[in-house]
Amino acid sequence: MADCLFCRIVAGEIPATPVHEDEQTLAFRDLNPQGPTHVLVIPKAHHPDVAALAGDPQLLAAVHRAAAAVAEQEGIVADGWRLVFNTGVNGGQSVFHVHGHVLGGRKFGWPPG
Ligand code: 5GP
Ligand code: ZN
Repeated sequence: MADCLFCRIVAGEIPATPVHEDEQTLAFRDLNPQGPTHVLVIPKAHHPDVAALAGDPQLLAAVHRAAAAVAEQEGIVADGWRLVFNTGVNGGQSVFHVHGHVLGGRKFGWPPG
C-alpha cells in the first residue's frame, strides 16, 4: 500500500534500523523507544491489524517466531519481555499495518495506562 508508513519501510522508501529479517517479516527499532529494547516486528505483506493477520495463520506464526528471535538476539529472554499488539483506537494503535512491539530491558507495569 503506497500510503502505508510500514509498507514504505519494507520498500526501503523510509529509513529504519533493522534488527531481524526473513522472507516474510521485518523487525526494526521503534523511533520513540519505551524501554532499552523496543523493536517493531511486522509482516512484509500489508494487514491492518492482528485480527486481519489471524486470517493467515502461517504468517501470524512467522511474526511470532520473528519476535521470539528478536528477544533472543536482544538478550532479554532471561529477565522477561513483552509482546504487544495495540489494536484499534481504544487499543492505542496509530499505524494500521500490524506490528508487534517487542519490549524488554526494564520491568513494565500492569495494568497498562
Ligand atoms: P502503535 O501506536 O500503532 O501501536 O505503534 C506505532 C509505533 O510506531 C510507535 O511506537 C511509534 O513510535 C512507531 N513509529 C511511528 N513512526 C515510525 C517511523 O517512521 N519509524 C519507526 N521506526 N517507528 C515509527
Ligand atoms: Zn502496510
